[in-house]
Amino acid sequence: MRKLAVDVVVIGGGSTGVGVVRDVAMRGYSAVLLERADLAQGTSGRFHGLLHSGGRYVVSDPGSATECAEENVIVTRIHADAVEPTGGYFVTAPGDDPEFADKFLAGAAATGVPAREISVAEALRNEPRLNPGILRAVEVQDGTVDGWQMTWGAARSAMEYGAKVLTYHKVTKIDRADGRVSAVHCVDLKDGEDVRIECTFVLNCAGPFSATAAPMMEACLRAHAHYLDITGEIAVFEQAHSLDARAREAGVVLCPGVGFDVIPTDCVAAALKEALPDATHLALGFDSRSGFSPGTAKTSVEGLAQGGKVRRDGKIVSVPLAYAVRRIDFGDGEKDAMTIPWGDVSTAYHTTGIANIQVFVPGSPRMIAGARRANWVRPLLGLPWVQALIKARIARTVKGPSEEQRAQMPTFVWGEATNARGQKKTARIRTANGYSLTITGSLAVVEHLMTARPAGGAYTPARLVGADLVTRLPGSGPLQIV
Ligand SMILES: Cc1cc2nc3c(=O)[nH]c(=O)nc-3n(C[C@H](O)[C@H](O)[C@H](O)COP(=O)(O)OP(=O)(O)OC[C@H]3O[C@@H](n4cnc5c(N)ncnc54)[C@H](O)[C@@H]3O)c2cc1C
Repeated sequence: MRKLAVDVVVIGGGSTGVGVVRDVAMRGYSAVLLERADLAQGTSGRFHGLLHSGGRYVVSDPGSATECAEENVIVTRIHADAVEPTGGYFVTAPGDDPEFADKFLAGAAATGVPAREISVAEALRNEPRLNPGILRAVEVQDGTVDGWQMTWGAARSAMEYGAKVLTYHKVTKIDRADGRVSAVHCVDLKDGEDVRIECTFVLNCAGPFSATAAPMMEACLRAHAHYLDITGEIAVFEQAHSLDARAREAGVVLCPGVGFDVIPTDCVAAALKEALPDATHLALGFDSRSGFSPGTAKTSVEGLAQGGKVRRDGKIVSVPLAYAVRRIDFGDGEKDAMTIPWGDVSTAYHTTGIANIQVFVPGSPRMIAGARRANWVRPLLGLPWVQALIKARIARTVKGPSEEQRAQMPTFVWGEATNARGQKKTARIRTANGYSLTITGSLAVVEHLMTARPAGGAYTPARLVGADLVTRLPGSGPLQIV
């Protein structure tokens, strides 16, 4: 069975289907059009070929009349070579209500349908086959349209915007989960192969992920949609990995952490594992001077209350804030650094299998002393009203770095692997600012997901895409290991 994954599946390659798939592709969604025969094999290749002026509806259906008039102009403009502006006549035949022409003209004026009464003589001169007994004639802007050319033109345009058009693909089944379409099945009539098209994936950028990730992962498993997010929270990563078996079974990729947390450090971890396969201890860290966005600051306040976390003998254990302190050269000179409860405590283990992991950031002696003092008031920091108070202050005072600031602030990422014999490998890479990397990194993982079609399961970014992911992102230097 062949598999595809897109945002939107359009069924039917007639004028409606090709128009819809073109619109979807122009809006930037990935889309596929499935047609069981060739394009325009249905009604769109067998109709009368009239490009309506709207005249038919000016009295009976004014709304449709206006719509026809407007679309007539658009279609003629965007696909002139498929349209012949023949014009058309509405005439009063002998026996018709002679007053109707007045109602028609009033309706045309009210609905914006161009219409002009002409003399009977002029009408008969232009159309000698008209009933010579007609009483009145009104000219409108009808045209004829070549249905084949029109349909193919829209399909070609959709393809230029990235849509796939699969002819001779007959839809056989639509999967639904929780009231939503999750996949479309079709058969390729030329070789008989079944094709399953998954319709959706989710990139969750809506923190706090401690609240949003679990229900969204659950919904994705049921809807057979891949799940990505930009969290750095240990609990979210662990939750994703606890769902591994279900994700494999559902063919769904669960990969939290596709932003600055944790792409660069995860790639560094994977590269160090390759450089020192029998490593038993891993230290990771980053020096970022971009300051906090309000969202990151609020999440960090929640983290403060929970204290520090490291991985010891394969288990995540709680430790005090700034539990370990050491001097580290992240790539921009040696600095004091302290441990933080960062996402890699979870993910680097799933990427490398290394059982002892700590994550460091630089801090001035004052900041490290402050973090250590905070251990004494930690129970207080967990109280809902204290959290609310601090978060309100953050909302008032923290603005996050501007685009200009972000462009000037790279991040230095570092890692160190040690084995039982005390051998060490150290990795460093300079990357774009964390906030910029979150955008380019998450989109790179989305692209990978759409093209590589990985098997379902819980992943870390480096396991999903490869250890070189970070080096391929804009603003990244080489990953150096000594
Ligand atoms: C006799 C007649 C004259 C008309 N004259 C005019 C006119 O002069 N001017 C005008 O504007 N309108 C006219 N219309 C209306 C116009 O032709 C239709 O509104 C229009 O063609 C509908 O296009 P569509 O894409 O919705 O349907 P279709 O062109 O019928 O496309 C539907 C497509 O779906 C495909 N399909 C069906 N099942 C599956 C499946 N399981 N898997 C994959 N593909 C599938 C079919 O093969 C078909 O190609 C006329 C209609 C008729 C019947």
